[in-house]
Amino acid sequence: MAFDWSYTIGLLWSADFWNAALTVVELSVLTWVLAVILGFFVALADRSNLRIVRKVAALYVWFFRSLPLLVLLIFVYNLPQAFPSTSGLLSIPFISGLIALVLSETAYIAEIHRGALLAVGKGQYEAGKVLGLASTGIQRKIVVPQSLRIALPSLANEFISIVKLTSLVSVISLAEILLVGQRYYTQNFLVIETMVAVAFYYVLIVTVFDTGLKALERHLDFSRRLASLTTEKAEPNGAIAIDTEGDAFTVVGPPAIRLERGRKSYGTHEVFSDLNLSVKQGEVISIIGPSGSGKTTLIRSLNGLEALDQGIVYLEEKPFLAGAEESRSIRPDSRDALRIGMVFQNFNLFPHKTALENVMMGPIYHKRGTRHNVRKEARQQLQQVGMLVHENKYPHQLSGGQQQRVAIARALAMHPSIMLFDEPTSALDPETVGEVLRIMAGLAKSGRTMIIVTHEMKFAIEVSDRIIFMEGGKVVFDGSPELLVEKRKQDERLADFVRI
Ligand code: ADP
Ligand code: MG
Repeated sequence: MAFDWSYTIGLLWSADFWNAALTVVELSVLTWVLAVILGFFVALADRSNLRIVRKVAALYVWFFRSLPLLVLLIFVYNLPQAFPSTSGLLSIPFISGLIALVLSETAYIAEIHRGALLAVGKGQYEAGKVLGLASTGIQRKIVVPQSLRIALPSLANEFISIVKLTSLVSVISLAEILLVGQRYYTQNFLVIETMVAVAFYYVLIVTVFDTGLKALERHLDFSRRLASLTTEKAEPNGAIAIDTEGDAFTVVGPPAIRLERGRKSYGTHEVFSDLNLSVKQGEVISIIGPSGSGKTTLIRSLNGLEALDQGIVYLEEKPFLAGAEESRSIRPDSRDALRIGMVFQNFNLFPHKTALENVMMGPIYHKRGTRHNVRKEARQQLQQVGMLVHENKYPHQLSGGQQQRVAIARALAMHPSIMLFDEPTSALDPETVGEVLRIMAGLAKSGRTMIIVTHEMKFAIEVSDRIIFMEGGKVVFDGSPELLVEKRKQDERLADFVRI
């Protein structure tokens, strides 16, 4: 018996098949959209601080991934036998099919979201935190947009699986493509001819959506995006203007920031204990010392990125942060956190935002003015660090030094009175170190309080009012750069470290 082509081709015009194809599209799109949303909440639940919430999320994923979809479909469709009140809804095959598909797909998609959320680094959360974003703000503005882009290729793939899985819903008599085909060939026995048409419809749906989703993926992929190239002038050659209101000065008054009896341990490893530090307003302090001596832990304790075990941080003598032992008696005011800006070793710029948008993030979030004004000021801030010509570029299109200059502008945009720098040039190529140090030297002259962890000894000696040498969690030197240069002549340990 020859293959009946005219019959197969005729099926491509069949209203039954086109209706069935529409049903498949509706069911797939609805399943996908609902599972993408619900799966996201399951993935968030998996990261909850509450153990019970994490357990429930894990249990859900475990159970619905273990259960074959076919079993679930038959179960949901026949549920009215046990609970007659559900029969109105569940006896509609489309509805029971949708419920079973969503239950099962949510579990798979939650795992995709979970992986994508993990891929958004810790530095992104910290960068949001130091700009004063609340945890919901960090999720909404920083984490979700990035994780969705990371997840999109896998989510698109999952959509295609869903389209094909809908064929299983034929077992509960939903008139989808496979069932329509079966009805045809049980009457005319043209199995192969009918199945070719069935295959055609599935391939058509998958191809159309695959193309659409790929286009969406390309549209959202900021790493491929080119900067809308503004008239790009050559970067001003090193001449970076920072308003310098006179020479270095310190204001008389309460210390800008003061740590009293700080103690911090990681597990059994004590980083420092009984550590005191007081920084005057307008003072520029460099903290130097060998790696592992606790410099990073110290400055991260000053703005709450690390929680102290004991001790109190005061801002202008007002209690700001307290260690676990004192926290009951002190209520920190979250607005105070905005008075401290921070620049990280790895910049931690938001990769899905342009240079300008990175700088605008904090002021927009805190409603520091109309969008127009915030933008205007952010552009001035970029101008100050010599990055205005690159305002529309994404972080991945900038060199390390340029990224760090944007990060400095981003911190300055919140007008902090104190700036913390944790080895701001350690991740940079040697040729771009200078451009960042120049900006920092300009800032140091402008009267801002600065605490800088650095290995750049020459820079530290030139710009600091005071240098602190830390070793093994202890302050072993605390004095003026001149004194340090003097002391190193007698102290072998200092001489080893302080090589200019
Ligand atoms: P530095 O910045 O001077 O190199 P750190 O403050 O980073 O030093 O680290 C001080 C000590 O604390 C080191 O011994 C380091 O291994 C340890 N440490 C730092 N962060 C953590 C952490 N999150 N968990 C456990 N140990 C840590
Ligand atoms: Mg460090």
